[in-house]
Amino acid sequence: MAIQKRTSTNVLLDTALRNFYAAAEEMRLDEGLVEILSHSERRTCVSIPVEMDDGSVKVFDGYRVQHSTALGPSKGGIRFHPDVCLDECEALAMMMTWKCSLAGIPYGGGKGGVSFNPLDYSQKERERLTRTFAARIEPVVGTWTDVPAPDVNTGGPEMIWFMDTISKMRNQLEPAIFTGKPISLWGSKGRTAATGLGVATCAMEALKVSGKPVEGATVAVQGFGNVGTYAALTMVKAGAKVVAISDITGAYYCPAGLDIQKCFDFVSSHPKKLLEGYQQEGMQKLAGEDLLFLPVDVLLPCALEGAINGKNADKVQAKFIIEGANGPVTPEGDAVLDKKGALVVPDFLANSGGVIGSYFEWCQNLGGFFWSEEEYNDRLLRIMRDNFHRVWDYSTANSVKMRRAAFMVAIKRVADAVRMRGVFL
Ligand code: NAD
Repeated sequence: MAIQKRTSTNVLLDTALRNFYAAAEEMRLDEGLVEILSHSERRTCVSIPVEMDDGSVKVFDGYRVQHSTALGPSKGGIRFHPDVCLDECEALAMMMTWKCSLAGIPYGGGKGGVSFNPLDYSQKERERLTRTFAARIEPVVGTWTDVPAPDVNTGGPEMIWFMDTISKMRNQLEPAIFTGKPISLWGSKGRTAATGLGVATCAMEALKVSGKPVEGATVAVQGFGNVGTYAALTMVKAGAKVVAISDITGAYYCPAGLDIQKCFDFVSSHPKKLLEGYQQEGMQKLAGEDLLFLPVDVLLPCALEGAINGKNADKVQAKFIIEGANGPVTPEGDAVLDKKGALVVPDFLANSGGVIGSYFEWCQNLGGFFWSEEEYNDRLLRIMRDNFHRVWDYSTANSVKMRRAAFMVAIKRVADAVRMRGVFL
C-alpha cells in the first residue's frame, strides 16, 4: 500500500517534507519508517498572557515542536519573530533531527517560538513573556526530554529567564535544560567561535579530499558576522588567503589578501559592528553581491538564505562552496553549480559546529565540570572532521552529491534508532 505523502501550504514545511521523501525513496526506507519520520512526535501550542507596562494584558501564541526523540532529547532553538507559526516550527524541528543525527550527537530535533516582534516591547515585557512561555512549555521540556537554545531574536538573557523560571517551578537548579547561556552562568567557553570553526574545517577537508592545498587557497566570505568572522580567521590561521569579505555595507576585495585580524578588530570596535570605513592598501570596494562571482577557490556564503540561486549561480567561479548560512544555495542554484562541477558542502553539515557546541555545554552542565577553550575546540575539530568524511565517503561510494548523501546518512541513523527502539510511544 503506497503511503499518503504529507504536504503543506507552508513553504518551509513543504520543502522539508519533500527533501525527506526524496531521500527516503532513494534509500528505499520502509514505509512504516517513512510514515513515522514524516510526522512530529509532539506539537504543543500555548497561549501566553502578558501584562504590559501600561497595565493592559495581551495574549501571544507560542509553540514547541518535538519532531523526534529517537536518538535522545530533542534539541533546537526558540525564536521570537512575527512569522513564527506551528508549521514553521515543525519544518525547523525536522531539520534539527537530521542535523543532530548527522552531527553524531545524542539528540533528536525540536524547535519553538513565539509569534511577536520583540522590538515592539520593553525589556520587562519581554522578560514577563519569556517567563510565562517557559511556564507554559515546562511540562514538555527537560534535560532528558527537550533542550531548547537561542535562535532568531533570543540569546543569553532569554535562556537565563527560561532556566530560572523552570528551576524555580521545580525547586531545583536545571542548568542543562537550556543551552546558549552566558559563560558566567553555566555557559561554555568556545561557543562563540564554534560555528565558524566548523565551517572552516569543512572547507579545509573539502580541499584536502580534492587534492588541493589549503596553504595559499583563495577564499571569499559573504557575511562578516558571527559565523563569517570565525570562519575567515580559522582559514587564515591554516594558511589560506582570504581575499574578500562582505556585510550589509558592501564587499571588500584585496587580491593580495585581507588582514582579517585587522578587519575583525575594526568591526568589533565599530558602533554598529560593520565594515564600513575599513581601509587597506590594494583593497577595493565592490557591490555586495559581486563577492560571489570573484575568481577564488573557496566561497563561504555565511550571510543569508537564497544568496546563490538560479539567476546568478552561473557567474560563481569558486569550485568549493561551503554553506555557512542556512540555505544560502537554492535548489535551482545547486543544479547550476552541480553542472559546473563545484563541490557544495550542505548547511546542516557545514554549520553544525553550533549545535555540537551546544551539546558540549549540556555535557559540561550535566557533569558540573567545565572544559578549557582548547579542550572544547579540539573535540569540535575532531567531530567535524569525522562527520565531513562520513558524508564524503557515503557520497563517493554511492555516487550522490554531498547534500543528498548528508540527508541519507542522517535519516539512516534516526531510522535505525526507531527500528531498534520499536514503534510504541
Ligand atoms: P550575524 O547577524 O552575526 O551575521 C550576518 C552577517 O551577514 C552580518 O555581517 C551582515 O551584515 C551580513 N549580511 C546580511 N545581509 C547581507 C548581504 N546581503 N550581503 C552581504 N552580507 C550580508 O549572523 P550569524 O550568526 O553569523 O548567522 C549567519 C547565518 O548562519 C544565518 O543564516 C544563521 O541562521 C546561520 N547559522 C548561524 C549559527 C550561529 O551559531 N551563529 C549556527 C548555524 C547557522
